[in-house]
Amino acid sequence: MPTIKALWPQFTAQADREGWPAARLLTALTEHEIADRARRRFERRLGEARLPSGKTLDSFDFSVVPTLSKAHVIALCAGDRWLDEGSNLLLIGPPGTGKTHLSAAIGLALIEHGYRVLFARTTDLAQRLQAARRELALEATIRKLDKFHLLVLDDFSYVTKDQAETSVLFELISSRYEQRSLLITANQPFGQWDKIFPEPAMTVAAIDRLVHRATIFELNVESYRRRTAIENKRQRATATEVEPSDQTATTPAAPET
Ligand code: ADP
Ligand code: MG
Repeated sequence: MPTIKALWPQFTAQADREGWPAARLLTALTEHEIADRARRRFERRLGEARLPSGKTLDSFDFSVVPTLSKAHVIALCAGDRWLDEGSNLLLIGPPGTGKTHLSAAIGLALIEHGYRVLFARTTDLAQRLQAARRELALEATIRKLDKFHLLVLDDFSYVTKDQAETSVLFELISSRYEQRSLLITANQPFGQWDKIFPEPAMTVAAIDRLVHRATIFELNVESYRRRTAIENKRQRATATEVEPSDQTATTPAAPET
């Protein structure tokens, strides 16, 4: 109890000075201990999650994704049933539509609610699992991931051919099925997932497990990057339109030709 250890001299001195009842002293010390534990746990879980930084729900503009219900996302952020059931969440959409942002924001909110989350680029995790398979430790490595209530597999459809050949992702999906949740982001809809798994039958089986009781959000909007780039360009254009007229006020008019 590190907080009590640090605080007791100061607190007991104050209690003696002010004549606190014993219960008040005990309550004050334990309340500090509990609050500090919660803070340390949050920091530990935030550290282990490896979320991309700065991606929060507050900074996500829901108005640009009309197909996405903010209320539904906020409900998912509380965790509860879907994580208890090991249900999955799938975010499908073209690049730049906020899939990574949203999955990191959901991950952060779940950590705030006391859950354990791991965010990984799918290719990185597949590589780790492949290495584990070579060392005959695939099962143990997958089992270690069970401690995470949610495993985010970002850019699922970027898996390379050699990673697909070892089918480690199929093992992961099968092992977590109905036990632990996955959040998968992908640019490609399911039709093009045959490159992720070595055989068509495995693709069908994997999709079947993933979508069973899953929530699927399709973010079919214009790329946010593109949108902001165009917006910035437009703003620059209006700024330069203003400049010449400002200059005409201070610089003499060019001679007529
Ligand atoms: P994806 O993973 O779908 O390719 P990202 O989540 O990486 O897209 O989004 C690209 C950039 O645009 C990021 O910097 C992200 O924070 C920002 N962004 C995307 N969608 C939104 C949104 N709806 N509101 C605010 N920022 C967004
Ligand atoms: Mg992304």
